[in-house]
Amino acid sequence: MVTLKINGISVTVPEDYTILQAAKEINVEIPSLCYLKDVNCIGSCRVCVVELVERGRSRLVPSCVFPVAEGMEVYTNTPAVRTSRRTTIELILSTHHKKCLSCVRGNNCELQKLAFDYGVDEDRFAQEEIKYDIDDLSPYIVRDNNKCIMCRRCTAACNKAQTVGAIGEIDRGYKVHIGCAFEKSMGESVCVGCGQCIVACPVGALSEKSQIDDVWDAIADPNKKVVVFTAPSIRATLGECFDMPVGTNVEGKMVAAIRRLGVDAVFNMDVTADLTIVEEATELLNRLENAHDLPMFTSCCPGWVKFVEHQYQDFIPNLSTCKSPQQMFGAVLKNYYAQKKGIDPHDLFVVSIIPCTAKKFECTREEESAYGFADADVSLTTRELSKMIKGAGLKFTELNNEKFDDPFEIATGAGAIFGATGGVMEAALRTAADILDGGSKKIEFKEVRGTDGIKEAEYMLGGKKLKVAVASGLGNARKILDGIRSGERHYDFVEIMACPGGCVNGGGQPVQGDSVRNYVDLKTLRAKALYDADKKLKFRKSHLNPVIQMLYDEYFDAPGKHRAHRLLHTTYVKRDKY
Ligand code: SF4
Ligand code: SF4
Ligand code: SF4
Repeated sequence: MVTLKINGISVTVPEDYTILQAAKEINVEIPSLCYLKDVNCIGSCRVCVVELVERGRSRLVPSCVFPVAEGMEVYTNTPAVRTSRRTTIELILSTHHKKCLSCVRGNNCELQKLAFDYGVDEDRFAQEEIKYDIDDLSPYIVRDNNKCIMCRRCTAACNKAQTVGAIGEIDRGYKVHIGCAFEKSMGESVCVGCGQCIVACPVGALSEKSQIDDVWDAIADPNKKVVVFTAPSIRATLGECFDMPVGTNVEGKMVAAIRRLGVDAVFNMDVTADLTIVEEATELLNRLENAHDLPMFTSCCPGWVKFVEHQYQDFIPNLSTCKSPQQMFGAVLKNYYAQKKGIDPHDLFVVSIIPCTAKKFECTREEESAYGFADADVSLTTRELSKMIKGAGLKFTELNNEKFDDPFEIATGAGAIFGATGGVMEAALRTAADILDGGSKKIEFKEVRGTDGIKEAEYMLGGKKLKVAVASGLGNARKILDGIRSGERHYDFVEIMACPGGCVNGGGQPVQGDSVRNYVDLKTLRAKALYDADKKLKFRKSHLNPVIQMLYDEYFDAPGKHRAHRLLHTTYVKRDKY
């Protein structure tokens, strides 16, 4: 521990702290643009400067990378600090495409907030702006370099945490900008669509490709039946868009709000999370029995699947053939539900509300439509849903709780925890243990919980040892895959989620700026809401969900059987380009 003085207040902190971290201990938040905890720490934007006084002389240092030292004397709000920060912001704005009124981040922009806080004259250094074409060729992401401030949070997210390597710095000096190799579009690169660059971006340079208008059009079309389902993690994050505390479960208000948008039904996607588990557990037991294509990898994360299709093609046979819960729900709705309700599947407009940008790509996968039309028509992020709710003038926090619609209302705890890293594994283990041990009493598998990037565990199921691993974040996935390839790691079953912490921290979730992300553990708080929900639910194992039992009784016969195989399973492709 070392003791230093910040603004004349003595504070004792661990010796590996930076000044920015130490300042938080005395409730001083230092602004930053390039720094983002766990993502980027390069000290390049210079917004976080503070005044360091040594031997009677002072100098400005970047607090995000400057380590604390015994006896250090620091000031965070002197005239020199304020002048420096203001000038830095003015210089950033000198080439910035200042279109706040129509900007996707117009109400949640870290640069705009700083300009306001420091009373910046946006035109003092105005110079000729370089005009960049907007890259909107992919089905899931839009890059607008006219808004980019070169903080490099996105490249750090993509290259360091995710190790995908889709984007980087191009050109030099005044012309330097972020882009893909050979100036290709994001949609023509190895980008997996995880959206981690979007939630790291402090400004409006990156956003999901909005499909809000498609949904409004469908709602207004008298020939369309619009059905919406929401992924497990949305109820744990949507409240943040309405200034509710991180980790507030807003399931009832969320259902009420979506219903008031004018849709025909609101369903719970936890149901097809359960369906995925029943199919996946059956597939795992089959692979274990026949000792083929092991370890088996989960396949419910399209970012992870695309990563394998681009960069680890020899592992494609190891991916479970199960579609994701989104695609399974689409298949169930356009077949079983449409038939039951007498609706032409072409008139059924299926919308998923998802924490994810990669799911927008998944909707377009040719391998996913077994009967000639897409499973899900549109996938909206949590952020897009919040915009629709705000656009409709609904006072979200004042809404009374409502329930999901029949017949896809009843969820299990296993489905609820899908949104957190380790949740899919735990849900699968609950069902596999029941099948192998003839009705196991074990429900919780706590060894696979938590936000560690890689978790490993061994269980005895049916008298046999099952070795499992859970990884979140593609950098951790790479470690697992390289370890299996080299023979250093041995597993039977592996869960991978592309986003660090899983879907609760997905690329489509509410964007929290540095003032929250640098100090609050979003992943843990959001996941807690799901584990709390799990504990309260009547059914906690996927195969015990009465809706799942009804689906097999009335339609699919048995897991993995002909109709289930055709509608609920898929194939993968080697992607040499995109
Ligand atoms: S990125 Fe921020 S400052 Fe720039 S136009 Fe958008 S809201 Fe305004
Ligand atoms: S979406 Fe993911 S893979 Fe694509 S550029 Fe962003 S961080 Fe990289
Ligand atoms: S972890 Fe979840 S949010 Fe992230 S890419 Fe995968 S499915 Fe999407």
